[in-house]
Amino acid sequence: MAKYTGPVCRLCRREGAKLYLKGDRCYSDKCSFTERGFAPGQHGAGQTRKKVSEYGIQLREKQKTRRIYGVLERQFHNYFVKADRQKGITGENLLVMLERRLDNVVFRMGLAESRNQARQLVRHGLIRVNGRRVNIPSFLVKAGDAVGVREESKQSPIIKKIAESLGSKQAPIWLEVNAEDMSGKVMRYPTREEIDIPIQEHLIVELYSR
Ligand code: SF4
Repeated sequence: MAKYTGPVCRLCRREGAKLYLKGDRCYSDKCSFTERGFAPGQHGAGQTRKKVSEYGIQLREKQKTRRIYGVLERQFHNYFVKADRQKGITGENLLVMLERRLDNVVFRMGLAESRNQARQLVRHGLIRVNGRRVNIPSFLVKAGDAVGVREESKQSPIIKKIAESLGSKQAPIWLEVNAEDMSGKVMRYPTREEIDIPIQEHLIVELYSR
């Protein structure tokens, strides 16, 4: 599936769930999902009344997850294959791998307002891992890795704006954040309970096991 370039709020309405794709706006009363929690199209006609098949439910759960993390179809499938080869529960392995993406870690640390913005910061070379610039959003961090904004990038207007609110954001327990330095450390990988996304990952496993 090609990269989606349309209005992102439409994706939330399509999935029937908030996907938190627009940063702070998603937590405000400007969120259009709150106002119009139906599928896109005129009045969401036809889509809300349809009986959804088991396959359809599994497919939507996979699409929802892909959209939350901003991952294309082929790459998502690759994550699944790797997760399936690992020890443990495949669905949980998949989510942990998605959480380990550098763009997600930058977002979780509060160094970006959304995963989309985090992806841009990484692509533009504003982020370092263990002191070296990494511009690949899908880079998988490891426990012990140090992640932060490059010194040279701290004067950029976008980073200055993010710095203003960084101290007020709560990072997940598996990440340590130094707001003053705009940096942090991956203490360990998250457990499933620590990943706060509204996904039933077993449905994705069932979809790929068909
Ligand atoms: Fe989704 Fe955020 Fe748009 Fe609300 S504001 S519809 S949560 S992307």
